[in-house]
Amino acid sequence: MDILSMTIKDAAIGLKSKKFSSVDLTKAYFDRIKKINPTLNAYVYEAKDEAFIDAENADKRIAKGSAAVLTGIPCAIKDIFCTKGIRTTCCSKILENFVPPYDATVISKLKNVGAVFLGKTNMDEFACGGSNEHSCFGPVKNPWDISRVSGGSSGGSAAAVSADLALFALGTDTGGSIREPASFCGCTGLKVTYGRVSRSGVMAFASSWDTIGTFAKTVEDAAIVLNAIAGHDERDSTTPNKPVPDYPKNINKEVKGLKIGVPKEYFGEGIDSKVREIVMAAIKEFEKAGAKIIEVSLPMTKYAIAAYYIATPAELSANLARFDGIRFGRKPHKEGKDLYDYYLAARGEGFGDEIKRRIMMGTYVLSAGYYDAYYLKAQKIRTLIIKEFEKAFEKVDIMISPVAPFPAFKIGEKIDDLLSMYLADALTIPINAAGVPALALPAGFAKGDGGVASSGAELPVGMQIIGPQFSEELLFQAGHAYQRLTNWHTMRPSV
Ligand code: GLN
Repeated sequence: MDILSMTIKDAAIGLKSKKFSSVDLTKAYFDRIKKINPTLNAYVYEAKDEAFIDAENADKRIAKGSAAVLTGIPCAIKDIFCTKGIRTTCCSKILENFVPPYDATVISKLKNVGAVFLGKTNMDEFACGGSNEHSCFGPVKNPWDISRVSGGSSGGSAAAVSADLALFALGTDTGGSIREPASFCGCTGLKVTYGRVSRSGVMAFASSWDTIGTFAKTVEDAAIVLNAIAGHDERDSTTPNKPVPDYPKNINKEVKGLKIGVPKEYFGEGIDSKVREIVMAAIKEFEKAGAKIIEVSLPMTKYAIAAYYIATPAELSANLARFDGIRFGRKPHKEGKDLYDYYLAARGEGFGDEIKRRIMMGTYVLSAGYYDAYYLKAQKIRTLIIKEFEKAFEKVDIMISPVAPFPAFKIGEKIDDLLSMYLADALTIPINAAGVPALALPAGFAKGDGGVASSGAELPVGMQIIGPQFSEELLFQAGHAYQRLTNWHTMRPSV
């Protein structure tokens, strides 16, 4: 087997049996990154020196017989995670020189098990975007068709895994930033229950919506990664002290008898007909395997985007207030005549257009006189969405829907049409509002209906399996059952 097309599971077996070393594996990845990254722009920083030190240490640990499954496994990290001594920019000019003095909790956890960090991946600035076009390093190209977007905001991580530039990659998902790029690039992406994975040391976008998750080639690999990163952290008070199951252990459980909900609003207007067909065919596979299919209704879905674009900019504007060019963020080139001028220059030069737009929206909806009309109302909608999901999960075990209404669009196609860009997350945002987990996985290929999506290459289409809070184990079982029955997840782009 080609060393780059292996899964984590295969690679761990190869490492243990000394077929190859972690140094060999790391070298193979850097060779491929050298060849492919100039085309895709998935990595914004390659941590070569550090990675080879990690790989040598991993090989020693393997030789001693004390290896974990992830020991010596090369991975990529979204540039939003603080990595000690390694530049972390959030793909924003305001952080272009930032080298964190500490590691995020998930980074320390991955270091403890001996994973090898290849580098930092491209993203929309401060995770605000769904196409990776809002990055100070330029867009990530979709490995299936380089004239198209990778999705965002974790576009670099998704493209890296799909194009065999890493064995797995970390991302964040506030409104769809793991699942949408996973769907556009054709890999598996996990958005966890809010609080399942520590956010400590991860740059905050909207703190009550942000979650940390992973991209992988298979559901089983995603389960392996979650095992290493999940759990309570005293540095993040939103991580409950709830036991972490051994996720891969019971992954072979059958789906027979499982009650699967099909939320009808997720298959309606605005959904590309081919996308609908593909996800319906996937649901049929579950039915053939003995699952019971039940239609459910989530009518509050239609308010989710509106609530999200009030609540999350409000949190973003508060979180980004600290970037003043003095305490946080780089100095402006023109300092001005007083402190006020200095702030304007630092923030004016440092933030991109989308961030400025969201800061303005966020401060507006929080301002006196508007708070009740907008922010409070959005929070009430969020509560109704949470209740609606709870009710649906009284009837069904999991739900299945498309991830995005359409496959990857052309670079530049939606950049001046905000509403249409924001609609890409119509089916992912409600899940973040409810705080529940969802697993995105490839379910087929489409050229899409009409519009620009109908030209060019076949593009991956993803579905998401949604579960109640802390049901990640069940999501892995269902996703793995599907990947045993189908081979969409084994398709690779020819880039
Ligand atoms: N695309 C959404 C946005 O622009 C979601 C981003 C995210 O999940 N970080 O906000």
